[in-house]
Amino acid sequence: MVSEHMVKLGMNRNIMREIFEHGKRRAKVVGAGNVLDFSLGNPSVPPPAKVNDTIRAVLDGPLHDSVHAYTSAPGDQGCRDAIAASLTHRFGVFCTGDELYLTVGAAAALCCCLFGLHTPGDEFIVIVPYFTEYRVFIESAGAKAVEVPAAPGTFDLDLAAIEAAIGPNTKGILINSPNNPAGVVYPAATIRGLADLLRRKSSEFGNPIYLISDEPYREVVYDGVEVPWLPAYYENTLVCYSYSKCLSLPGERIGYVLVPQSAEDWARVYAAVAGAGRGIGYINAPSLFQHVAAACDGLTADLSVYETNRNRLYRGLTEMGYTCVKPDGTFYLIFQAPDLDSMAFSKRAMKYDLLVAPTDTFGCPGYLRVAFCVDTGRVEKALPVFRRLAQEYGL
Ligand code: PLP
Repeated sequence: MVSEHMVKLGMNRNIMREIFEHGKRRAKVVGAGNVLDFSLGNPSVPPPAKVNDTIRAVLDGPLHDSVHAYTSAPGDQGCRDAIAASLTHRFGVFCTGDELYLTVGAAAALCCCLFGLHTPGDEFIVIVPYFTEYRVFIESAGAKAVEVPAAPGTFDLDLAAIEAAIGPNTKGILINSPNNPAGVVYPAATIRGLADLLRRKSSEFGNPIYLISDEPYREVVYDGVEVPWLPAYYENTLVCYSYSKCLSLPGERIGYVLVPQSAEDWARVYAAVAGAGRGIGYINAPSLFQHVAAACDGLTADLSVYETNRNRLYRGLTEMGYTCVKPDGTFYLIFQAPDLDSMAFSKRAMKYDLLVAPTDTFGCPGYLRVAFCVDTGRVEKALPVFRRLAQEYGL
C-alpha cells in the first residue's frame, strides 16, 4: 500500500507541463523555431556575470575545500548575514542573518512555513488565481486551502472578500506579488488595508493571522513600479523569496524564508520553520548557491527583453480586441478567452503550434496565460497567429 494522496499528486496531470511536453514533441516534427511555446515560466536570459564570477571565486578561493560540505541547517552564517545586510540596505528595515532560513527555492520556503505553522483544523487563504502548487503545499501540510477571488478586472486583493473568508481557523493568508499568473503588483494602499484587517481579525480571534508573502518575482517589475516590503507593514509577515527568476537560476534551487523578529513569538515561529525544513528532509540549501545569493542579492539578470515582450504583447493583443490585464511585473500576461472557454482556446491555438496555458489550473477558468520569458523573435512570430485566432473568434 502507498499513500493515496501522494499517488494522486504523482499521477495528476498538470496541463501546463502537458502543453510543454507537446511542444517538445512538435519541435521534432516542425523544428524548434516553429513552435511558439509560451507555456512555462523558465527564464530565458542568462544570469548576471557576477553569478559565475562568484562561483569561480568560491571554487578557487580559500573555501574550496569546504564549499561542497554540509552547512548549518538554516544556511551558512556568513551568507545569511550578508543577505540580511543587503535586505536592510535595500528595504530600510533592519534584519539579521538569524531571521533568515535559506531554502531550496520559494517552493521549499512556502512548504517550511505551511508545515511549520499548521496545527490541526487550520485554514490558509489563497487568492484566485493562484500558483498551481499552493493547494498541493497546503493540503500536503494537512491544512485546508480557502479560495478568495481577486477583485474582478484589476486582480488586486478584494479586502471585503478576504474579511468574509477569515474565521477562527484561519492561520494565514498566502499572497503573491508580483503575481503569477495575473502580473499585478499589490499597491501600498492595498497592503496597508490588508495589514489593518489582519490585525483586527487577529485580535478578534485571539491568534495571530500570518501573512505569507511569496515573492519570487520581486525584482521583475516594469515602469518603476514599487513592490512594498511587507514586514514594514505587518509584523506577522513571513517572506518566502527565491533567486530563481531575478538571477535566472531556477534549476539551482536557492531562496529563503525571512521570519522578522517583529513576529509574535518570533523564536518559536522561526524554530517551527526550521523544524519543518528538517522534517521534510531538506538538510540545508545548496551550499555553493548560498554564496551566490550572498554575493548577488539585489542584482538581476538583464530583464529588458521581458519589458520589450510585455509591451509588444500587451499592445498587440489589445489592438486585436483581446481583453488583457497589463502586467506590472512578472513575465506573464493573461487575456480572456473570447468565449470564456480557455481550454478550447488553448487547443485551437495548438493547431498553429502556439502554446498558451489555460488558467483553469490557477483556479480561475476563462483566461490564457502567456509566459513571455522568451526571445522577442518568438513574440513577433506569434502575433500574426494571435491575430488569426482573433479573427476566427470574430473579435
Ligand atoms: N511561487 C510562484 C508564484 C511561482 O511562480 C514559482 C515558480 O514558478 C514558485 C513559487 C516556485 O519558485 P522556486 O523555483 O523558487 O521554487
